[in-house]
Amino acid sequence: MNEHDSERIAGMLESMGYKPTTLDAALKGKVDVFAINTCAVRENAANKLYGHLGQLATQKRLNPKMQIAVGGCLAQKDKEQMVMRAPWVDVVFGTHNLHGLPELLKEAAKTSKAQVEILPQLVQFPSTLQAVRKTNYSAWVSISMGCNNSCTFCIVPLLRGRERDRRPDEILAEVKHAVKNGASEVILLGQNVNSYGTEFGDRNAFAKLLRACGELESSGLKRVRFTSPHPAAFTDVVLSAMSETNNVMPNLHMPLQSGSDRILRLMRRSYRASSFLKTLEKVRNLIPEVAITTDIIVGFPDETDEDFEKTLEVVKEAQFSSAYTFQYSIRPGTVAANMPNQIPKDVVQHRFEKLLKIQEEITLSGQKAQLGKTVSVMISAHQHRKDDLNGRLSGISEDGRLVHINTSGLNAKPGEIVQVNIISATPYYLVADVV
Ligand code: SF4
Repeated sequence: MNEHDSERIAGMLESMGYKPTTLDAALKGKVDVFAINTCAVRENAANKLYGHLGQLATQKRLNPKMQIAVGGCLAQKDKEQMVMRAPWVDVVFGTHNLHGLPELLKEAAKTSKAQVEILPQLVQFPSTLQAVRKTNYSAWVSISMGCNNSCTFCIVPLLRGRERDRRPDEILAEVKHAVKNGASEVILLGQNVNSYGTEFGDRNAFAKLLRACGELESSGLKRVRFTSPHPAAFTDVVLSAMSETNNVMPNLHMPLQSGSDRILRLMRRSYRASSFLKTLEKVRNLIPEVAITTDIIVGFPDETDEDFEKTLEVVKEAQFSSAYTFQYSIRPGTVAANMPNQIPKDVVQHRFEKLLKIQEEITLSGQKAQLGKTVSVMISAHQHRKDDLNGRLSGISEDGRLVHINTSGLNAKPGEIVQVNIISATPYYLVADVV
């Protein structure tokens, strides 16, 4: 979501007449505007932000006309405190008023005073703003923002607010526009895509949206992905739409968080380990080639060895193609931050390493199962590296795996799809020859 928002921030700055520059030039103060978009989900975001701002203080002294704008979740959370800690910041804006950045910059320049604007509610979907996309072939398209759940470890509802849903015609217009401008892939974005439509009273809106994207295949929309569904709300209607729509990829991110029902309850996650596994079974029955990824938090408050063992059991049974594993850390402002029995760091570390080892073995065996297969890969980049992967094209398979391709003269552009044979596998990538 933050990457999507950064593309919009860049788009607004370009529409004001600014041109992008290098980070190096920016850190030397040779810029007119330095915009930082922040994320509050990970623990070290604040340290990193204030580190960067510290570096910029000197540059601001040398070039007082340079404007520094800080936006995103952390800006929203820290508000005025940010201007107190870093008084050389010109603009602080939140997640609900990205569209206000140009005016805030102008006002700060006019008044020579820091402008802080944090709105309690979304005024305009950032998706309606002009974007400078990192890549032309793949486009993030946000369908909703905010979340009506209240997972006790999560800062999102506090910072992004309750769920707001964009209307389907607006989303499809953006998808069509992206395809017309060269996108072969769209990634539909929402904190909880399954509940899309709640705001305008259509519980099947997400499934309909997938099918509507399917109808754009003949116009050039080769791949549709989405992130993230909530395991408790992943309906059969969505699953059918996924399996029956040709350009919706067999790749599903299903955040488990914990395999212990007791911890899931403490996390306020409304599914249980058995229902989670049943959902995966249903998905695999209907889409046998699917690759399922997940998120897991280790060391949530009060997690016992027994709870953790339950997570390992679910992980072994679920056979995720890969997992984003996190060590629990306190997020001020969340319910879990004040829970008793926070787990000591060394215990969390030990459990984390154990989980990582098991998941790595599962990931590798899933990767090895690809050996000898012919798969479709959408080219994403040409590798310029110092190791033996230099010169290879890289891309993503339909089920979301990174594939490095022995090019042998192949000159495919990003967004093009090539057929390849998988010849070797590591936990992190596959290597393939062109068919
Ligand atoms: S569903 Fe996701 S975004 Fe919503 S509160 Fe839970 S973790 Fe946060």
